[in-house]
Amino acid sequence: MWLLIVLVWLIIWAGGTYWYLFGKRSPFSIESVRPPGPRVFDQKVRDKVLKQGFSLDKVPKDLDAIVIGTGIGGLTVGATLAKAGKKVLLLEQHDQAGGCCHTYIEKGFEFDVGLHYIGQLHENSLLRIVFDQISEGQLEFQKLNQHFDTIYIGSDNEKHEYTIVSGKTEMEPHLMKQFPNDTEAIKTFFKIMKTSAKKTHYLATLKLIPKWLPLFLLKSGIANLMSPVFRLSGTCATDFANTLTRNKDLQLIFSYLFYGVPPKDSSILINALLIQHYKRGAYYPKGGASEIAFHIIRTINKYGGQCLVRAPVSQILVNGKGEAYGVKVTKGKEEVEIHAPVVISNCGIFNTFQKLLPPEIQIKQDIQDRLNMMKNARGSLLVFSGFDGTDEELGLVSTNFWMFKNNDMDKSMDDYFALSKEEAPDNIPMMFITMPSSKDPEAKIRHPGKSCMTILIMVNYEWFEEWKDTTVRKRGDDYFNYKMRFANNAFNWACTLFPKIKDKLVFQDVATPLTNIHYLGAQRGSMYSAEHNLDRFQAEAIARNRCDTPVKNLYISGQDVFSCGIAGALHGGLLCASTVLNHIVYIDLLFLKKKLKRRKARELAQLAKKKQQ
Ligand SMILES: Cc1cc2nc3c(=O)[nH]c(=O)nc-3n(C[C@H](O)[C@H](O)[C@H](O)COP(=O)(O)OP(=O)(O)OC[C@H]3O[C@@H](n4cnc5c(N)ncnc54)[C@H](O)[C@@H]3O)c2cc1C
Repeated sequence: MWLLIVLVWLIIWAGGTYWYLFGKRSPFSIESVRPPGPRVFDQKVRDKVLKQGFSLDKVPKDLDAIVIGTGIGGLTVGATLAKAGKKVLLLEQHDQAGGCCHTYIEKGFEFDVGLHYIGQLHENSLLRIVFDQISEGQLEFQKLNQHFDTIYIGSDNEKHEYTIVSGKTEMEPHLMKQFPNDTEAIKTFFKIMKTSAKKTHYLATLKLIPKWLPLFLLKSGIANLMSPVFRLSGTCATDFANTLTRNKDLQLIFSYLFYGVPPKDSSILINALLIQHYKRGAYYPKGGASEIAFHIIRTINKYGGQCLVRAPVSQILVNGKGEAYGVKVTKGKEEVEIHAPVVISNCGIFNTFQKLLPPEIQIKQDIQDRLNMMKNARGSLLVFSGFDGTDEELGLVSTNFWMFKNNDMDKSMDDYFALSKEEAPDNIPMMFITMPSSKDPEAKIRHPGKSCMTILIMVNYEWFEEWKDTTVRKRGDDYFNYKMRFANNAFNWACTLFPKIKDKLVFQDVATPLTNIHYLGAQRGSMYSAEHNLDRFQAEAIARNRCDTPVKNLYISGQDVFSCGIAGALHGGLLCASTVLNHIVYIDLLFLKKKLKRRKARELAQLAKKKQQ
């Protein structure tokens, strides 16, 4: 009798698992990808897609899901659900869609606000396949120079220069050449990079299976026997680097892609993954970052969905049973309700839980528990500079520059963030320089004779807080003068590398954490929403920070699900789509990848045959 019960239970379990994994139609197919069409330069045509203003009559009938926020995470979940047959509505508070992927054009210069380079876009990579699917083949990427990053440590004559090149077999030996006494350390670090990349899907899986299971596997120690990745994700980057080498420059290079958290508070897995991300090449969207939203929204439209801007969501509607059933959108002085059985928030965990949920739900213990796992990330300050002259004339290149005043990142970040508001602008310890006009081959067509540069610095929100209640572009002289102190110091530092730009500067604008609040809806002007600290990447925290929430029918997407970055937030969107559809779309993608690889092999074989004939 017992045997029979166990057998029946096993059959039901196996059937259920099979149905969960394979029982639903894939939203993806080879056939949906078509060759890229001609680039659309007409701004009016682009605005019709990217700046479609909100009004109730544009909302599709019988919605299946509402997505709040149109960053890459929201676009990914929106397009995936749309292709799976769901009727979706994306709502954006800003006047153009794209979140960190939007660009802004002023005085003939075009600047990215949150995309400087993306990795892992080589042919048939998972990321490339996803972009092809959600843009139906319309997004094209420019591969940047093999030498994609330069790192300077020190200042003036005491500067050390290191270069990072991409290439499956080139990246590691190139670094070894620059650190001949530390080849073993580099070898070990690259092994960690490989393990991290190969096994990250284990961490993602923690978010997809019923919560009790990963918690059991982690608490019992079984997970650690299965893979080192669970322990690695909770390992401190500084501690790990200390075990590898005493060379402080090399230690810095293991964490050089800074994101506002000192290495002593960050995860070695994340820092290794960031470098691994660019191993097969660094890429930039042809036509600029706004191409991403432009093409993905067109896909959403094609499948009956809609993306509307100037649509700030003021509240997520929750019924008496504690289930989300729609949103309130502010339209002028009014608030309008839109209903749907699923609400997906891609505007960050803090906005979602602290601003958009009704107050009586916000205070619930399970919501507070989720919030307590995260804290707001640091703010950023961007200096946008436009020059009268081409990249070639001014010596600007597609390589990015990471500048550090010294090689002790832990100390310099601690010291810097502890500075007073007055002291901070004159003591910038590190910055990032990038030239969007040198990366996009079509920038010359869109903005002939011009070039531009963006400089990125991390800052404390508190340094700008006194102006938080002022209106954008009317924040007053004190604010302007204060942000210009950062800008002037950073720009002068950049001029030490590019002396020709100084006399050709014709445009400059500075974005602060207050700008991030206004245009990106980022709480406290955080650059990457929730901080990417060590606590967040403990395996148990990863398992608990899921797309489903304590509020039924409310889901989280984007960079707060797994990690920031275009790729990280896109995976947040895919994980969310898998949760909403109750179907792991990654399995569909893996099957598709296999098919594409087989097709490629056939094409190569045919080509070889033709050559022989
Ligand atoms: C300066 C900077 C440089 C970066 N450089 C790179 C890079 O080179 N490579 C890389 O891979 N990554 C980079 N990133 C990170 C990457 O851009 C982000 O991690 C990623 O794009 C976040 O996507 P998301 O969809 O999660 O959120 P977001 O893009 O932030 O989208 C959230 C959206 O929600 C909207 N919103 C907020 N509140 C509401 C509301 N109440 N109602 C309606 N809409 C709302 C916002 O306006 C916004 O459009 C950079 C980020 C920054 C800030």
